[in-house]
Amino acid sequence: DNISIALDGPAGAGKSTIAKIIAKRKNLTYIDTGAMYRAIALKILREGIDIDKEESIQKVLSASSIDLEGNDIFLDGQLVTEEIRTPKVNNFVSHVARIPLVRMKMVELQRSIAANKNVIMDGRDIGTYVIPNATYKFYLTASIEERAKRRFIELRDKGFDTTIEIVKEEIKNRDKIDIEREFAPLRKAEDAIEIDTTGKSIEDVVEEILNYMK
Ligand code: C5P
Repeated sequence: DNISIALDGPAGAGKSTIAKIIAKRKNLTYIDTGAMYRAIALKILREGIDIDKEESIQKVLSASSIDLEGNDIFLDGQLVTEEIRTPKVNNFVSHVARIPLVRMKMVELQRSIAANKNVIMDGRDIGTYVIPNATYKFYLTASIEERAKRRFIELRDKGFDTTIEIVKEEIKNRDKIDIEREFAPLRKAEDAIEIDTTGKSIEDVVEEILNYMK
């Protein structure tokens, strides 16, 4: 049978860093579901689409292709790995991800990618909704201070002019929208193992997860 690992949690908890390492160590395919929501959000921004119009959402979804290749993401064949991580997309993506039509399309894609592969998938609703029967489920958290600091450093290193306080507000806002949406909100699955990564090194968290998988 296929092995699947669901890795959920709020923004900045360390999911993608940890998932990439575990994918390598365990020879799993890494699937970044956040990147998929970011890609469609980018397209909606570029085209100036009104997200309150169901017909426009329907249209953009059926006219878009999203492909994951390794750690890269392609939107309509164009490499957008960098462009989906700008503050502009950060602040818009949750508004797009709360639209049921968008989620249905992304979940369908995610399930079809996972169908024939051993995967580690990170996101918000993987353990609760996308792969409820995953082999292992983890829920990563960290204090808001630590999560803001991590994201701030990432953005600063990419040359964005911001502050920890601004990043903290952005993360809080995004988490709130993700938690409060109606369709497949951010939740710890009942049977997920919760790991608080505050003050832990990347290697510590990787070891902790690998220990559970023995
Ligand atoms: O993981 P990342 O921070 O890249 O996710 C960006 C956004 O995409 C999240 O804040 C959330 O709104 C949305 N998302 C989601 N469901 C997932 C993954 C991401 O709603 N499984």
